[in-house]
Amino acid sequence: MELEKVLEKYEPVIGIEIHAQLKTKSKAYCGDLNEYGHVPNSLTSAISLGHPGTLPKFNTAVLDHAIRLGLACNCNITKEMHFDRKNYFYADLPKGYQITQDKTPVCRQGEVLIRLKDGQEKTIELTRIHMEEDSGKSTHDLDPLHTLIDLNRAGVPLLEIVTEPVIKSSEEAYQYVTEIRKLLRYLDICDGNMEEGSMRCDVNVSIMPKGSNKFGQRVEIKNLNSIRNVQRSIDFEIIRHANLLDNGQKVGVETRTFDAPSGSTNAMRKKEAAHDYRYFPEPDLNPILIEEKHLEKIRSEMPPLPNELYKLFTSSYKLSSYDTLVLLEQKEIALYFMAILDHTKNFKSAANWVMVNIKSYLNQQAIPIDDFQIPPKFIAELIQLIDDNKISHSLASQKVFPNMLENPKLSPNDIAEKNNWISQSNKDDLSEIIEKILSDNPNETQRFKEGEKKLTGFFMGQIMKATKGTANPKLAAQVLHKIIQSHP
Ligand code: ADP
Ligand code: MG
Repeated sequence: MELEKVLEKYEPVIGIEIHAQLKTKSKAYCGDLNEYGHVPNSLTSAISLGHPGTLPKFNTAVLDHAIRLGLACNCNITKEMHFDRKNYFYADLPKGYQITQDKTPVCRQGEVLIRLKDGQEKTIELTRIHMEEDSGKSTHDLDPLHTLIDLNRAGVPLLEIVTEPVIKSSEEAYQYVTEIRKLLRYLDICDGNMEEGSMRCDVNVSIMPKGSNKFGQRVEIKNLNSIRNVQRSIDFEIIRHANLLDNGQKVGVETRTFDAPSGSTNAMRKKEAAHDYRYFPEPDLNPILIEEKHLEKIRSEMPPLPNELYKLFTSSYKLSSYDTLVLLEQKEIALYFMAILDHTKNFKSAANWVMVNIKSYLNQQAIPIDDFQIPPKFIAELIQLIDDNKISHSLASQKVFPNMLENPKLSPNDIAEKNNWISQSNKDDLSEIIEKILSDNPNETQRFKEGEKKLTGFFMGQIMKATKGTANPKLAAQVLHKIIQSHP
């Protein structure tokens, strides 16, 4: 069945759980380094290994990151909280329990604003955000006979971000996960790389007949390693559920995995009964009390966030919503753009230079903007040269900008002067040059005067030749027409 047909009859309900690995120096409950890519099992003290008798110690940088995200999402920050033990057995969980938060998540409620393709905005309500620790990493496919376990990841701090079941389509899910990743990156608390597993998504999907208010049976999809796959897996599930229901069958209570090559999901395990994790308060860690002045301090140090910047760019800088979203997609690009604005008030032009010339150069070179050598103030200076009619826009983008890429320490002004590219923008200079061209070409001049419009191209060509391409085309055309009109 087609998705569109299904959506005429059924209404999808989606809730998303995101695990974000936090950027901290050390792990959540001990001093082992929190770094990726080390020799397996080399960042594993007795605490990470869960040896009996060891004691955890809480890394408060984790709490501050959680508060940052909570404030960014307008959550209620819990003032008194504790950690809980979630008990279960698994080979990559040597302690036999995970330290997490059950009854007192650090953040409750909250909301995330998303923008859909048709321009509509929607608020996705959050249920909670809580702090916990990662398990070790089990690798099942490297050795034919054994599962390999790396405990470097055991104890790495995580935030779990849970939405209410309010997401209504795969597109909304796509935008929501994109927005969370953007927030994590703007806050600089998680690198958001789904491919490397530093941000992981579990998606809960159900469908119900249109107009119903009784949710259908949900399944949970795991192993989604890109935002695109979040969207694909949801569409696949919606259709699968509809087929089952239309055939009088039931949706199974199960967890499924997504297989990216085929775009389909497969049952992973049945959830026969609810797990009993025997949660209880972690006796080895003190409860946490948050003081208002600590919240105030974090609030006052918050970096600019995408939504505030959206308002600033669209209202104060008068940029279109589209341009704004392109500029905000990546924090570093947005910051570079704003650094240009420290030196120019031509917002639109600055936006264009970033979105067109700079971004396509970065794409071509496959480098991040952090490796871009031209200082923002030189881009502003380039814009000024154009606005002052000293160089044309095409000369700027075809000659000066490439030259700046080669010599990022030279200012565009110096480059243009050195190459004699500064335009004869002076009307008198241009008039003189044009007068000479007209008298050198009496035949064409006569025909042009008699209305042969296509000769404009010929004369503009002559002007560009005479000025070595530096004439400002708009000004040159103006002067040319003025002189022709008054020509005897
Ligand atoms: P669990 O502890 O089993 O993961 P939760 O109650 O924490 O279950 O819910 C997990 C996620 O599932 C939440 O994001 C929630 O919004 C979502 N969810 C709950 N019920 C449904 C449903 N019927 N359809 C889709 N999503 C649901
Ligand atoms: Mg879950």
